[in-house]
Amino acid sequence: ELDEDSCDFLFKIILIGDTSVGKTCVVHSFKSGLFLERQQNTIEVDFTVRTLDIDGKKVKMQVWDTAGQERFRTLTQGYYRNAHGAMIAYDLTRHSTFESLPHWIQEVEQCGAPSIVVIFIGNKCDLESERQVLFEDACTLAEQRGALAALETSAKMDHNIEEAFFLMAKELIVRS
Ligand code: GDP
Ligand code: MG
Repeated sequence: ELDEDSCDFLFKIILIGDTSVGKTCVVHSFKSGLFLERQQNTIEVDFTVRTLDIDGKKVKMQVWDTAGQERFRTLTQGYYRNAHGAMIAYDLTRHSTFESLPHWIQEVEQCGAPSIVVIFIGNKCDLESERQVLFEDACTLAEQRGALAALETSAKMDHNIEEAFFLMAKELIVRS
């Protein structure tokens, strides 16, 4: 499944962020109904593969999800190893999860490759009436911390998930 011959690009993308922000649902939404491969022989982590077609190029996105160990506020080195991109997710209905972003950025800076591309994902945008985080605050933080972008998503409504991964893939192609 990691056969690079069968694709033009292969990127490892990690999902990080506080517990219950919707990381697992985001990955599900991204892969649903489409080609996927799962590795279930590790307890620690799980990943999903989906191949995107970008301008005629086959781009394999190997998306890693945690098995909940982020509740201890830290992930293993192996999780970050060789990651090309990091989606740092927060729940826009819980401000505390947005306040955790600097912690997760620091983790990425310490454990990830210097060139890793970061995108902020403000998930649960279907719950507009419960919003606690302004989109512009996420954009400001993204700019300050050198993230590629801040996006708002809803895994529940399958909103902006594809866009987030395509944005990541296109940036990684440009940089590779
Ligand atoms: P994780 O701990 O970050 O992996 O979070 P999960 O994916 O397990 O989701 C945590 C909870 O948030 C679950 O109850 C999901 O049903 C819910 N959830 C996830 N994404 C969304 C979303 O986009 N909208 C809403 N309303 N709920 C969501
Ligand atoms: Mg999860």
